[in-house]
Amino acid sequence: MAKVAINLSTGALQQEEVIVGIDLGTTNSLVAYIHPEDKKPIAINDQGRGTIVPSVVHFTQQGDTIVGTEAKDYLLSDPANTIYSVKRLLGKSYRDLGEHKDYFGYKIIDDDSEGLVKIRVQDKFYSPIELSAEILKELRERAEHALKTPVNRAVITVPAYFNDSQRQATRDAGKLAGLEVLRIVNEPTAAALAYGIGIDPNEEKTVAVYDLGGGTFDISILSIHQGIFEVLSTNGDTYLGGDDFDRAIINHWIQNNELIADTVNQDKHLSQELRLKAEEAKRTLSVQEVYTSTIDGRIDCHLERHTFETLIAPIVARTIESCRQAMGDAKLEAAQIDAVIMVGGSTRVPMVYEAVSEFFGKPANNNLNPDEVVALGAAIQADILAGNRKDILLLDVTPLTLGIETMGGLMDSIIPRNSKIPTKAGRQYTTSVDGQVNMKISVYQGERDLVKENRKLAEFDLKGIPSMPAGFPKVDVNFILNADGILKVEAIELRSGVKQEVEVKPQYGLTDEQVEQMLMDSITHAKDDVSARMVIEARTTAEQMLYQVERFLEKNGQHLTEEERQLTRENLQKLRDVLAANGDKDAIFVAIDRLEEQTSPFAERVMQISIKQAMAGKKIE
Ligand code: ADP
Ligand code: MG
Repeated sequence: MAKVAINLSTGALQQEEVIVGIDLGTTNSLVAYIHPEDKKPIAINDQGRGTIVPSVVHFTQQGDTIVGTEAKDYLLSDPANTIYSVKRLLGKSYRDLGEHKDYFGYKIIDDDSEGLVKIRVQDKFYSPIELSAEILKELRERAEHALKTPVNRAVITVPAYFNDSQRQATRDAGKLAGLEVLRIVNEPTAAALAYGIGIDPNEEKTVAVYDLGGGTFDISILSIHQGIFEVLSTNGDTYLGGDDFDRAIINHWIQNNELIADTVNQDKHLSQELRLKAEEAKRTLSVQEVYTSTIDGRIDCHLERHTFETLIAPIVARTIESCRQAMGDAKLEAAQIDAVIMVGGSTRVPMVYEAVSEFFGKPANNNLNPDEVVALGAAIQADILAGNRKDILLLDVTPLTLGIETMGGLMDSIIPRNSKIPTKAGRQYTTSVDGQVNMKISVYQGERDLVKENRKLAEFDLKGIPSMPAGFPKVDVNFILNADGILKVEAIELRSGVKQEVEVKPQYGLTDEQVEQMLMDSITHAKDDVSARMVIEARTTAEQMLYQVERFLEKNGQHLTEEERQLTRENLQKLRDVLAANGDKDAIFVAIDRLEEQTSPFAERVMQISIKQAMAGKKIE
C-alpha cells in the first residue's frame, strides 16, 4: 500500500505519490503501477473485477455513465446510448472516417466534415475526448480505490502511428479526467520496456512488436539505442482484429446449422448469444482442441481447433503480409531482429503465435500477459519519470509546452512539455478569411489551454500570402528546439513559398519556481481549461459556419427559393442569438446542426461552392 516518507529538509510527512501507467485501448483499457515493495509492475485489479476494463461507455436514461464490463452488456440492447471503440475517433474529423462511417452503432454528427467529430447521445453532444475521459476516470477511480491513495499523474500509451492531433486529444482526455499526463508513450515502446528492453542505455536492440487486439492490428519495428526508442516503421490494419475471428466463427455456424440460419436475422437474443459463444469458443480453442456448447440447450455450438484455423488463416496471412511490408520499409531482414514481442489478447491464439514466430525465424516473446504488457510498460515509464530509477538516464527535456495561438485565443501545442531535446515538430494551418494576406504567429509557453494564461515568447507576421479564398493557403509552422533550449520558429506558405522565421529563448527569465507554479496552475485549472476550450471550439465552428453561409447567400442566393432564403436567414439568426447569449457548447451545436441540416442540400445544388470547404483545418486569425 501507499508508503509514507519523511522530507529530510522540512521534517514533514510526505506521501509517496503513485504515478500510474494507462493503456487506453480500442477494445480494452488497463491501469498499472509499480509495486512499492518488489518494484515490479502490476496491473490493478480493483475488487477482484479483473484487470481489464472494456473501453465501453453507456449512458443510462438518467444521464449517468457506466464504464466497462457492465456497459458492454448494453452494446446490443441499447446501441444508441452505448459508445465503443471511441479511440478510433480521437483527433479525427468525419471525413477522416472515410469508408468506415457505418462501423459505429451510435450517432456520429456529420455536419462539419472537417472539424473534429462529435457524437450525439440523447440531447447531448460529446467529443471523443470527453468519452475517453470517462474511461480514464473509471481507471483512475479503480486505481485510487485499490491503492487507497489519490492518483493525479499518469503516463498514457497510444499507437506508434498516432499523429499530433490524436496525441493531443489523448492528453486532453487525461486532463479532463483530472490527470496530469506526464508523457504520451508509444504502445510498442511500452511493450518493449515491459520486457526490460531499453532499460540498459548501453544496449542496442532492434525489436518487432506484433499487436493484435480486438479490432486493430499493428506491427512496429523499433530500434533502441542509448535509451532512445526510434520507430523505424509501422504497418497494420486499423480494422482487423480478434472481432474478425469471432465473425468468422459466427458465419461458419450460420452456414452449417439450418436452425441458426433460419432464425438469426429475426432473433436478437440469438444473435447476441452467438456473439458470446463465438468469443468463448475462440478463447477455449487457445488452450483446448475442441469446443462444445449449446444455446439455451437447443442449438449446438461446436468447433474444432483445426476448423477454426482454416477459418482464420486468411486473416492471419494478412497480418504477416503487413509484417513483411514493415520489414521492407525498415530495410531489415528477419535475422536482424533481436526480439519479437507479442501484444494484444488475440496473440493468445496458437496459430497466430506460430505464424509470427515462423515469419521472424525465432520464437516470439509471450511470457508476459499480452493483455497487460502495454500497461505494465507504461507503469515502468511512469516510474522512470518519477525519478525512482536513478540508474536510468533521462535525456534533457523541455520543462513547458511550446505552441502557438489559434482562433479564439486557444493554445495549440506544438512541442509538448517533457519532450526530449533537440527536437523538431510542426503543424499546418490555414486562413479564416477570404483574401487574407498576413498571418500573425504568436508563440507561447505553458500548459494552459488559453494563451492568455500562458507566457508569450514571440510574435511575428507572415506577410505576402497570395490572396486566396479562406482555407486555401497552407502554412507550415515548424518549431526547431536545439540542445541548448533555443527555439527557432519558421512559417512557410507552401503554395507560394513565402517564408519567415524568428529565434526565441523559451526558458529565458523563468526560474524553476515559476516553471513549477505554471505546472501547478495547469493542474488546478485543467478541467475549467478543457471546458473553456470546448466552448471556444464550438464558437469558432459556429462563426465559420455563419461566415460561410452568409457568403453563400450573397453569392448564390438567386439559386434558392424565397422560402429557402427566409428559413436560412432565420436559422442564421438563431445561431447568432445562441452565440450572443453565451450559450453552452451543446446549445451551439444544436443551432449549428439545425443550420447545417437545412442548408447542406444547397451546397450540392451549387456544386462548385462548397460550404464545407471553409472549415478546413485550424485557422489563425
Ligand atoms: P485492444 O488493444 O484493441 O483494446 P486487446 O489487446 O484487449 O484489445 O484484445 C482484445 C481481443 O483479444 C478480443 O478480440 C478478445 O476476444 C481477444 N482475446 C482475449 N483473450 C483471448 C484468448 N484467450 N484467445 C483468443 N483471443 C482472445
Ligand atoms: Mg492494445
